[in-house]
Amino acid sequence: MMDYIKDNLDEINQRIKRAARKSGRDIADITLVGVTKTIDVARIQRMIDFGVKNIGENRVQEIMAKYDSITDANWHMIGHLQTNKVKYIADKVSMIHSVDSFKLGQEISKRALEAGRVIDVLIEVNIAAEDTKYGVSPDGVYNLVKDLSILDGITVSGLMCVAPFVENPEENREYFKKMRQLAVDIKSKMVNNISIKYLSMGMTNDFDVAIEEGANIIRIGTGIFGDRNP
Ligand SMILES: *Cc1c(COP(=O)(O)O)cnc(C)c1O
Repeated sequence: MMDYIKDNLDEINQRIKRAARKSGRDIADITLVGVTKTIDVARIQRMIDFGVKNIGENRVQEIMAKYDSITDANWHMIGHLQTNKVKYIADKVSMIHSVDSFKLGQEISKRALEAGRVIDVLIEVNIAAEDTKYGVSPDGVYNLVKDLSILDGITVSGLMCVAPFVENPEENREYFKKMRQLAVDIKSKMVNNISIKYLSMGMTNDFDVAIEEGANIIRIGTGIFGDRNP
């Protein structure tokens, strides 16, 4: 039962290995976040049992609904987050990938401090300037990082993007390159109290290319669980 999850994970791990080898990277530096939106607890737990303990959800409601039923996981909030919902997840998530305003960062800081925790946050970048996507424009990233760096309860730990939906993943290579360069630029400015160590980019369709261009967190749903709306 649910052996396809194991088979799919084997295939994903092969792809990770291949991309890492191709670009001279160490697979130990690459974290797979299993994206569990719309997936039931039994299947999520199955994936965790196979060793994928980082799980990504894009809705606050879904985190709250599943949280108590799942053991041994690190929760990642990967979707758009409204300021008024931060309070429901600040005691639950270890990383928030989708910070795109100072106001949101401030609220995460406040709620993390209340919960006695430090939450890693990534800045979501709208790297292809798509109208339909959240995230700050590449020009705005440095100022946001600098502003957030003074807040306690959060650590700015890197950048995240959701690349365009494309047939051929090679079309996203330029965006992944730009993300990598943006991370390098910000690192070179030596802002105190931050550490740009994570690049969260690459999904089922394009994570191989993302790894080749420097991703060290990849977020994969369909590749593990199959189509969400078959
Ligand atoms: C759904 C989702 C993913 C995973 O997408 P797949 O194509 O199913 O691998 C990754 N990141 C975010 C932000 C998502 O919402």
